[in-house]
This record gives sequence, C-alpha cells and structure tokens, in this order.
Amino acid sequence: MESYDVVIIGGGPAGLTAGIYVARARLKVVLLEGAFPGGNAAITDRIDNYPGFPFGISGPDLMNRFREQAERFGLEIRVAEVTRLEVDGGTARVITTAGDYSARVVIIASGARRQELGVPGEAEFTGRGVSYCATCDGPFFENRVVAVIGGGDSAVEEAIYLTSFARKVYLIHRRDKLRANRAAQEKALANPRIEFRFNRVVERFEGKDSLRNLVLLNTQSGEVERLAVEGVFVSIGMKAASDFLGGLLETRDGYIITDADMNTSVPGVLAAGDIRYKLTRQVATAVGDGATAGIQAVRLCEDMLQGM
Ligand SMILES: Cc1cc2nc3c(=O)[nH]c(=O)nc-3n(C[C@H](O)[C@H](O)[C@H](O)COP(=O)(O)OP(=O)(O)OC[C@H]3O[C@@H](n4cnc5c(N)ncnc54)[C@H](O)[C@@H]3O)c2cc1C
Repeated sequence: MESYDVVIIGGGPAGLTAGIYVARARLKVVLLEGAFPGGNAAITDRIDNYPGFPFGISGPDLMNRFREQAERFGLEIRVAEVTRLEVDGGTARVITTAGDYSARVVIIASGARRQELGVPGEAEFTGRGVSYCATCDGPFFENRVVAVIGGGDSAVEEAIYLTSFARKVYLIHRRDKLRANRAAQEKALANPRIEFRFNRVVERFEGKDSLRNLVLLNTQSGEVERLAVEGVFVSIGMKAASDFLGGLLETRDGYIITDADMNTSVPGVLAAGDIRYKLTRQVATAVGDGATAGIQAVRLCEDMLQGM
C-alpha cells in the first residue's frame, strides 16, 4: 500500500483545485480519478459564467488548463476508481480498482453523476445508442434521428446542441411544459429540427445490436408510442457519486454534510464541490470549495506533523 499525506478522490474542478493548493504546499499528494480529469465541466460544450473568460471557454479547454496548472506544481494524477474508504485510528485507507492507498487526510471531490431512468433496455443499450452526455457522443449521430429525455436546462440545451449533428431531435418530457430557462426554451421552440413530446414517460428501449426504438407512454391518454431513434440522451438530473462511502460519513440524499472548512463528520476526511450537501453546484463554487479543502488539508497535515 502506498502512503501519502493527502489523497484526493475525483478530478473535476473541485479535486483539481484542491490539488493545486496541496501540491503547491509541497505535501505528498495523489489525485485518483475514475474516468478522465475535468469531471462534468469537461463534458460541457461551453462555459460562459466562469470568471476570467469574458467570451466564454469550452469545458474541455478550461479543464485542461486546471490540469496543466495542477501538474505544474507536481500533482500526481492516476486513473483509479475508488471502491471503498476506511478510517482507522487517524489513518485513512483508500481502496481502488488499481491498488490501495493510505493517507493522513482525504479530500472527497467525487461530484455528481447523471441519474438513470431505470427502465428496461437502458443498461443493455448504454454505449450502443443510450448516452448520458451529448457533448461526448453527439457527433456520432450525424444526420440521424435522436431523442433527449428531460425538461430542465441541461436537457433543452443538449437538444439544441444536438441539432448541429442530428437530422431530427425529439425532446421528451413527462410534464406539459419545460422547466428550462426562458431563453433556452425560446431557442428550442424556434428550432425546426426539434419536435416536442410532452406528457410522455419512457417505458423501455428496444433494439438488436444497437438501439432502434424508444417506447413512450402518454400519461394523459394512456397511448403507447414507438419512436424510431438511433440515439437517446438521458438528461433527468444528477445524483451524488458517494456509493463507495458505504455509510462512513454523515450525508443527506447521498450528498456529504460539511462545515465551512469542508470538514466532514469524520476527522481527517474533507469533502469539496458538488458532492457536498448544498444549494449551488457550479464550476465557480466547486473551485471555492476545492481551494478551502486544499488549505484545510495542508493545515491538518501540519498540525499532525507538529503533534508527532
Ligand atoms: C451538462 C452540464 C452542464 C453544466 N454547465 C455548467 C456551466 O455552464 N457553468 C458552471 O459553472 N457549471 C456547469 N455545470 C456544473 C459543473 O460542471 C459542476 O458544478 C462541476 O463540474 C462540479 O465539480 P466537482 O469537481 O465538484 O465534480 P465533478 O465535475 O462531478 O467531478 C467529479 C469527478 O470525480 C470522479 N469520480 C467520481 N466518483 C469517483 C470514484 N469513486 N473514484 C474516482 N473518481 C471518481 C468523476 O469521474 C469526476 O471526474 C454543468 C454540469 C452539467 C452536467
């Protein structure tokens, strides 16, 4: 087992920012990332509200800059999915798919993941027509017919984005009107490539080797409708990426409860970014949390070293 002063779980904006602070303080630190650095910000086509970029910046570009800055200070980034966290007598053990780590301080920055629908065929066709990321997979559907499930900001913005590739985009929502902001709604309603289906819920996905049909239930009339689509983008909200904690920390709805310094209910374990129980989940707020957690981790390590 490898020993570190600080182990950071998750390489989104919060984890990378924490990494900048901890690596710059010259502690021994590793960041463990299960997928690719950048988190949800890296799969966002354009970020217009992160300060410092008056004309906006693409999500992948912004997150590459975060990573380069962290690596300049010597942050080690490894691909590993954390499967369990244990704390025993002031030392944490981080169990991953690629080895185990021990740490004086752990910063959890595992963020949130897309919510699944939980209907038949969804798991079977994920990666073969069913996707949770329009920015990642949209270009595969050039000139095809696709659907987006959801009615919030992300769903409507993804539907608009997909019209640059797809011939037709169905926007399917379970209610009779969208929840998205007015500007996005107006843009979508004016787009001739988007066709709306309100009051519909997804019953199942059908296909052979890949997705062929989306089966919908009209919640008003009870009618079942089968749409021929090759791609479906599920955009119905997020859930905390905290399954690996297994009840170790105090949480609410899966999100970790912290104080203002990012301390959790277990000493030596901090949490930052979207994984925290809070109201606002943005790149700017994740960065603020990451900076606070990084500074607090350095403080805790110094206290431990002085107490030795
Ligand atoms: C479609 C979409 C559009 C958005 N648009 C904007 C926008 O325009 N402006 C804005 O400010 N914000 C936007 N956001 C929100 C923003 O992306 C998030 O608030 C921000 O990315 C949160 O950062 P984070 O580091 O806390 O978490 P995340 O970005 O979720 O990163 C968490 C990372 O942890 C990794 N991870 C999770 N579990 C494990 C594990 N067990 N082991 C190892 N690694 C793990 C994940 O792979 C991920 O890389 C958008 C989000 C989405 C989904």
